[in-house]
Amino acid sequence: MENKSKQWRFKVRKDLTSVSEFSIRSVLGKLYRAIDATDTRPPIYLGHGDPSTFPCFRTTPVAENSIVDALRSAKFNGYAPGVGILPARRAIAEHLSSNLPYKLSADDVNLTSGCFQAIEVVISVLTQPGANILLPRPAFPTYEARATFSKLEFRHFDLLSEKGWEVDLDAVEALADDNTVAMVIINPGNPCGNVYSYQHLQKIAETASKLGIMVIADEVYDRITFGSNPFVPMGTFGSIVPVITVGSISKRWVVPGWRLGWLVITDPNGILKETKIVESIHGYLNICSDPATFIQGAIPKILEDTKEDFFKNILNTLRQASDICYEKIKDIDCLTCPHKPEGSMFVMVKLNLSLLEDIVDDIDFCFKLVKEESVVLIPGITVGLKNWVRITFAIEPSSLEDALGRIKSFGQRHAKNQ
Ligand SMILES: *Cc1c(COP(=O)(O)O)cnc(C)c1O
Repeated sequence: MENKSKQWRFKVRKDLTSVSEFSIRSVLGKLYRAIDATDTRPPIYLGHGDPSTFPCFRTTPVAENSIVDALRSAKFNGYAPGVGILPARRAIAEHLSSNLPYKLSADDVNLTSGCFQAIEVVISVLTQPGANILLPRPAFPTYEARATFSKLEFRHFDLLSEKGWEVDLDAVEALADDNTVAMVIINPGNPCGNVYSYQHLQKIAETASKLGIMVIADEVYDRITFGSNPFVPMGTFGSIVPVITVGSISKRWVVPGWRLGWLVITDPNGILKETKIVESIHGYLNICSDPATFIQGAIPKILEDTKEDFFKNILNTLRQASDICYEKIKDIDCLTCPHKPEGSMFVMVKLNLSLLEDIVDDIDFCFKLVKEESVVLIPGITVGLKNWVRITFAIEPSSLEDALGRIKSFGQRHAKNQ
């Protein structure tokens, strides 16, 4: 028998248990398990941002063929350098420069395993004892999770629903201190579907510059816009403030499973190089795993040969879906949508709990909804806003209409008798 009084020295990190419990993946897992198997209707998933299984969102054959060709060439069976292979970095520099007032070089581009890893890298290299980072609320929760994992303090500034989810810049100024290193923006936005104007982005750049902090711009929804504001990359203001841009092919090419992303230095004044942050990013990448080399090998053809028609079709489907979503929500008493989505794949909707009989909060709403109607939504608390819900409209428009019809009858069934 083992000695029962033996003390093992390892302990669980409790902070990680709680971040992973509230991650989108974990919450979705619980919601999926709550689906009633006896419901004869198909479940409708408006929780996650991965429409790759729908025929209308299938990626372009150009991308599929580029992968096959790269694989068959036998040129990409080996290890790649930590920053990624040169032709891929050059192609991404070229691709992003087409939208910028200056030219990026391959040296500005680092390949990562999706945008997720780019977030991990940037948070990790910015972590110092005592440092803090400013994060938007609501937001994509990976930022909080990575900061918690790194033990980097984070402070939230609000996005203002009544102003198209613009950044509350007064709050940014009030939150920042001498230990603040960066602020994060997500544009086009997840979870809000916002697309920021040139003027607002310029104000963000000026505020960050005044505070002496860099901007981390999550542009994973780069050019996925279908409203009146065109997509303007934060790097446009790179001469006002140093910007680290993170992105990937996951959303625009609808291939999140391919795991190819980037971390790009959009800083024409070379401030990040001077302060050795670039060196630290390279050092970090040298001790990480890389995206598969044959996917890297396919990147030049994917970026250069994809036809505009492919993007146009996807954007048309998203525009149609977002219109359906916005119009149908107007018809559902227990939901209010303060701002029509103009980009990305999501919209934030407020729950009018005072109109509902037996629903206590957003989590209760989402669990009862999935049980009774087999419709999955993300509770707002997961992305930082209690008693809101996030709806993904990136699904086949006919299923979306079906789902919103089910949400409407759910709301009527749970309405308070007036
Ligand atoms: C999906 C998403 C990511 C992660 O992208 P991958 O390329 O799949 O790793 C990062 N940021 C935001 C805002 C996202 O919505």
